[in-house]
Amino acid sequence: MKIETGDQYIDSLRGRNLKVYLFGERVEEPVDHPIMRPSINAVAETYDLGVRAPELATVISPFTGERVSRFLNICTSTRDLVLQNKMQRKLGQNTGTCFQRCVGMDASNALYSTTYEMDEAHGTAYHDRFKTFLTDMHRHNYVVGGAMTDVKGDRSLAPHQQADPDMFVRVVRRDDQGVYISGAKAHQTGCVNSHWMLVMPTMRLSEADRDYAIIGAVPVDAEGITYIYGRQSCDMRAMEGGSIDTGNNLYGGQEAMVIFDEVFIPHERIFMDGEYDYAALLVERFTAYHRRSYVCKSGVGDVLIGAAANIAEMNGVPKASHIKDKLVEMTHLNETIYATGIAASYQGYATKSGCYLCDDMIANVCKHHVTKLPYEIARLAQDLAGGMMVTMPSEADLNHPEIGALIKKYLKAKESVPVEDRMRMLRLIENMTLGRNAVGYLTESMHGAGSPQAQRIQIGRAMQLEYKKRLSRVLAGIDSIDERETIDELTGYFERVFRVPEA
Ligand SMILES: Cc1cc2nc3c(=O)[nH]c(=O)nc-3n(C[C@H](O)[C@H](O)[C@H](O)COP(=O)(O)OP(=O)(O)OC[C@H]3O[C@@H](n4cnc5c(N)ncnc54)[C@H](O)[C@@H]3O)c2cc1C
Repeated sequence: MKIETGDQYIDSLRGRNLKVYLFGERVEEPVDHPIMRPSINAVAETYDLGVRAPELATVISPFTGERVSRFLNICTSTRDLVLQNKMQRKLGQNTGTCFQRCVGMDASNALYSTTYEMDEAHGTAYHDRFKTFLTDMHRHNYVVGGAMTDVKGDRSLAPHQQADPDMFVRVVRRDDQGVYISGAKAHQTGCVNSHWMLVMPTMRLSEADRDYAIIGAVPVDAEGITYIYGRQSCDMRAMEGGSIDTGNNLYGGQEAMVIFDEVFIPHERIFMDGEYDYAALLVERFTAYHRRSYVCKSGVGDVLIGAAANIAEMNGVPKASHIKDKLVEMTHLNETIYATGIAASYQGYATKSGCYLCDDMIANVCKHHVTKLPYEIARLAQDLAGGMMVTMPSEADLNHPEIGALIKKYLKAKESVPVEDRMRMLRLIENMTLGRNAVGYLTESMHGAGSPQAQRIQIGRAMQLEYKKRLSRVLAGIDSIDERETIDELTGYFERVFRVPEA
């Protein structure tokens, strides 16, 4: 059956008998768990947006000829890259959190071009296998997760140098049907909410790491997989049954640790096996897509800016000049994230496979902004909210027959605003800046798709400093002006920066 709506998606997750642990206990049915359900709702919204706005959130599949989620699309133009970003901003606005599908989308696009080039170099047949896998995903309109980050052990050591060889996922056994993998992936966004996972290496590998050079597709309910659900700040509030103290009662993010114990991958679902020299290309391409995918945080920022403007109105001070100025500053920072993300897509170009890749430098600049600017936006939102966002009594107190009246009396700000509305807005700001959804808005912004230093390394590699030094030497009269054309030809700078976007 092909999944079309959010409700159909939620039904598709039922009865899978996954081995999921939370608080030391196995969870019978994740769909009905109050802590997990908001994260499932967020993925369901990716389907429902496809129903309400098909041009934005779906595409016609080149494999099946039917409409499928844009999250499953292989980009064949800059328009496709840009529309991914627009969809991501909208979903950030609608959910106020991480909707969990970007890793799989970016991994699929990176794999499409990497398998093509790997086949050219090694005479392998991974690209066609990957297309067959994608066709199956399109046929069912499935959710595909991307499992890249290993637990990594001692960060100074390569995979084969670790005291425990399972610190990075690796092939532990082979038979004539395929391979068996063991190890663990950390921080896996939306893994319990996915149908399939693409397991990939997380870093550049050497010949000694050959067993770690494995890429394959695994169904989320494969035998041998254990999920240990990550705790999020304030998550227990979802167990209390109310709808105010959760801050965002509908939507949340999800991360879990995924442990593989001899999980089988058949040959037809293996897309790299030992070609360690292509691990770095795959990781670089994935991060180029994924670092501009953090444009989604501008949609989440829209919600926080709206919440800050609302609370200022509720507090009776919307016209104060410093408040207007802070809202302008928040907007400026938020649009800076969006501008760099979407610019990376507009500067995209075709790889040999025909799959479009976005501009690596601007994608890294986008993600680097994301490691900083949401923190400043969150700081300004807390400034406008006032201290009540962290000292406020609970929903149970508001509903108490005796003290409820006292809360309604003493939490009144602007006369026309019901106290409950003010409490809800304050809880939303708490949720996004300190609570459950601060995982997605702040710490995921810091580390997801690579910690800040990872972007600085990429920016440093691509910054063409020698070329820039020579430009200045020409204008300072040190080098001859005739050398300018030679310089442009000698560097990749001209092609990258002045690449003309498609009409
Ligand atoms: C909310 C969230 C969601 C995520 N979702 C996914 C997902 O869906 N799929 C996925 O694959 N990954 C996911 N990630 C993982 C993300 O890519 C990693 O968190 C990131 O790459 C950093 O790795 P780490 O957390 O292991 O931190 P570490 O690697 O431990 O880094 C911690 C610090 O140490 C520094 N450091 C690390 N190694 C070295 C070194 N050798 N030399 C010097 N400094 C070093 C880093 O720069 C950083 O400052 C997610 C992360 C978060 C927080």
